[in-house]
Amino acid sequence: MDALPNRLEGKVAIVTGGASGIGESTVRLFVKYGAKVVIADIQDDLGVTLCNDLVSENVFYVHCDVTQESDVKNAVDTAVSMFGKLDIMFNNAGIPGNLDFKILESDNENFKRVFDVNTFGSFLGAKHAARVMIPAKRGVILFTSSVASVVSGESPHSYTVSKHAVVGLMKNLCVELGQYGIRVNCISPGSVSTPLLTNAMGLEKAAVDGILCASAVLNEVVPTAEDIGEAAVYLGSDASKFVSGINLVVDGGYSTTNPTYSSIWQWTVT
Ligand code: NAD
Repeated sequence: MDALPNRLEGKVAIVTGGASGIGESTVRLFVKYGAKVVIADIQDDLGVTLCNDLVSENVFYVHCDVTQESDVKNAVDTAVSMFGKLDIMFNNAGIPGNLDFKILESDNENFKRVFDVNTFGSFLGAKHAARVMIPAKRGVILFTSSVASVVSGESPHSYTVSKHAVVGLMKNLCVELGQYGIRVNCISPGSVSTPLLTNAMGLEKAAVDGILCASAVLNEVVPTAEDIGEAAVYLGSDASKFVSGINLVVDGGYSTTNPTYSSIWQWTVT
């Protein structure tokens, strides 16, 4: 049984990238816990299907390309006009881009595109959320960064840079917006088998889950998009009312270890 079934009662949220993966799971949890939610994405069919599936007057889909300021402005204004205010802005939309692990083979246009969606899109979301949250003197701005913000060498250069930048933006905004009662935090997921990851790896979900399970620190735990959504529920709710400026890494402990040494000399394995 859920201990706090109404923990987002009365809250109004926007979830960018809300039509798929982590965003979709977060939308489902936000609605389940009582929030009114605007789903903002570019995958219109998936977004509308999710709305229909939820069968709730408290959820609405808007087409929103986070790299377009007019779209982001419209998403925020839609939340305010439909539901009266904005309490939680979850800047979650993101792309992996090309797998540019080698600097000499990295494509410049890909770098700019990844930065445009992951970082500039998050900046625009924060900017327009702040526009309505500052006068209200309350609100929560969340970003999805990545475990790539704390572990190096396992993600493409463009992606890693874009996600580090999101953490920097979060920290600066935490300092600026605290005076208005606005909390600003990041969630940094470890790998989760959403369409983003399965497509990037070119593998089926079951195969990706197997790899994630085998490489996990927490034995036999397969990470899910819902695990990340639960972190967003916590950071969006009043249970975290004194939490601001953190990068909450949700990776089952993955980033705490560097297995390179032990993989060469198996001294930790019996
Ligand atoms: P996903 O592909 O399932 O979902 C991403 C969503 O973002 C999609 O619905 C997509 O349409 C949307 N999107 C992409 N570009 C957009 C744009 N310009 N404007 C609006 N929406 C756009 O992937 P996911 O894994 O759920 O990714 C969500 C976030 O989590 C991303 O920021 C990603 O970088 C981050 N992340 C994912 C993982 C993982 O392993 N899945 C790990 C760390 C961080």
